[in-house]
Amino acid sequence: MLKIDNIKTYYGNIMALKGVSIEISEGEIITLIGANGAGKSTTLMSICGIVPPRSGEIRFMGKAIHTMKPDRIVSLGISQVPEGRRIFPYLTVTENLDMGAFLRNDRENIKRDMDYIFELFPILAERRHQSGGTLSGGEQQMLAISRALMAKPRLLLLDEPSLGLAPLIVKQIFEIIRKVNEEQRTTIFLVEQNANLALKVAHRGYVMENGRITIADKAQSLLANEDVKKAYLGL
Ligand code: ATP
Repeated sequence: MLKIDNIKTYYGNIMALKGVSIEISEGEIITLIGANGAGKSTTLMSICGIVPPRSGEIRFMGKAIHTMKPDRIVSLGISQVPEGRRIFPYLTVTENLDMGAFLRNDRENIKRDMDYIFELFPILAERRHQSGGTLSGGEQQMLAISRALMAKPRLLLLDEPSLGLAPLIVKQIFEIIRKVNEEQRTTIFLVEQNANLALKVAHRGYVMENGRITIADKAQSLLANEDVKKAYLGL
């Protein structure tokens, strides 16, 4: 579904991605783990066209997307939930969700999808008329994920969904990630510093260090890998 082939991405003269290749098949949950500053967010921003790669290729469903503008990439079926849950604080929960469906015009299905979101996150249903900015951090993360889902993406990109949230909320969010993948067949690319959780939910994983992929394997194998254990699992 997504093929990232040897991309190099820069901020000015600084090379943040030094030849990254990643492949994601339809229906998979893939995680990208690594330390602060390794280049995980830059990888997501390269896919979305926000910080396009200077060389290499990215193909989505066979189409080259590395030269496309972000809005065109979204319209092909890729939605991103950026780090730091950037929701619209002055819009209500329902209005935030409507914004996610901005590019769609199938009214009937939009209504059905909103009902599905409210089933996934009953707390958002309770707070549907409340403005986004008044929600707790965990609820805002739920809203950010839900807003991205309202676009009906084929590929959902999640940047550090666990960041700064209480363990119980994180557990809930990861259960939903698994559920959406199973029930909606949404393919998921999950960037996480919480390697333990991410590898437990993912099918396969990539380890990134200093702008390069250093290990790629099945999630189960990465959980048992001695180097990964020492560097990322605190074991
Ligand atoms: P984190 O978990 O802290 O977000 P990360 O793995 O996502 O880390 P990136 O944010 O992709 O890492 O950063 C990769 C490298 O690019 C780092 O060296 C970082 O300092 C640099 N970088 C990121 N954003 C910018 C920017 N806007 N301008 C210049 N350098 C940047």
